[in-house]
Amino acid sequence: MSERIYLSPPHMSGEELKRIQQAFADNWVAPAGPNLAAFEAQLCDYVGAQHAVAVSSGTAAIHLALLVTDVQPDDEIFVSTLTFAGSVNPIIYMGAKPVFIDSEPQSWNMDPNLLEDALKARAQSGNLPKAVMPVHLYGQSADMDAIMAVCERYEVMVIEDAAEALGTLYRDRHPGTFGKMSAFSFNGNKIITTSGGGMLISDDRALIEHARKLASQSREPVAHYEHLEIGYNYRMSNILAAIGCGQMTVLEDRVRRKREIYAYYAQRLGDIPGLTFVDEMPYGRHTHWLTVMLVDPAQFGADREQIRLTLEDHNIESRPLWKPMHCQPVFQDYEFIGGNVADSLFDQGLCLPSGTALTDAELDRIISIIQAMR
Ligand SMILES: *Cc1c(COP(=O)(O)O)cnc(C)c1O
Repeated sequence: MSERIYLSPPHMSGEELKRIQQAFADNWVAPAGPNLAAFEAQLCDYVGAQHAVAVSSGTAAIHLALLVTDVQPDDEIFVSTLTFAGSVNPIIYMGAKPVFIDSEPQSWNMDPNLLEDALKARAQSGNLPKAVMPVHLYGQSADMDAIMAVCERYEVMVIEDAAEALGTLYRDRHPGTFGKMSAFSFNGNKIITTSGGGMLISDDRALIEHARKLASQSREPVAHYEHLEIGYNYRMSNILAAIGCGQMTVLEDRVRRKREIYAYYAQRLGDIPGLTFVDEMPYGRHTHWLTVMLVDPAQFGADREQIRLTLEDHNIESRPLWKPMHCQPVFQDYEFIGGNVADSLFDQGLCLPSGTALTDAELDRIISIIQAMR
């Protein structure tokens, strides 16, 4: 059997190991160390943000954003339904209530019209949410002009889940720089990885400094261990930040290759009846972190699950889209606003192998297996 092809495995440049070796040589294994500040500065520079704190995961970054926003039990947070559970779990950690908003069919991200109707209704009944959390899915930005306009009208804070959107553009701006705060993830299969990690960014220094303190067990700046509030052990290690600094040097290369991979799939499979590929919205740059294909079983003759299993038989990993949060048993008690857009995307969507180290020969192999199924 051929070697396994994974969905989106880590792709190191060589630079990471050099920086890890330097950190070992300097004995900056712990605590903290210079790579942390360097990684934070590089990411700020790249996306155009003022302040950042590197943490242990994207989920931790979202949790910190909610903590420094002083979210109270029973506050509502509006969040995209089509996302990974990492967007929503921190809302539950706070004792707050997620309200799930459906996707719009073009970008698959939070539907600004549904959001507007929902905020209007909430404003009338006097219970606006504490924050709105749009998610930028699979490397495509949500429609931030529309979302920001509505949220500004109702004076509701925006926290962006940009975990899948490093390298993405909305017009000439990076998603993650529109809201009050934003979270990035460097989990193993993201466009760049630190093996595990995340970053919270904001232009508000006080918020990031508060998050930085919370992430280090809320230690007060005195010699003895003094604590005025409950803290978390969420800081990224200097070794992982060294990997992050190395990965930043190849981020634009990774974006280029992800886009090439998408174009390769779309060109060879896009003409087959029943197979469609999500378009890049005219407002931005889609990184195609994952290439996603929609499968109409009536036209193609097989459904996305049959394709997934056939690829699996060939030792190739593919994956359905995120199962919408309002369909998750664990979140079934929370409100959902929308129709069946996210639901039907989930039914039809398949994420294809999109690792930036994939060769054209490997892509050809994947493509010919799918072609042979028609
Ligand atoms: C990966 C991801 C997260 C969580 O990031 P971790 O680093 O895995 O905790 C949150 N939201 C979305 C949309 C993600 O894809």
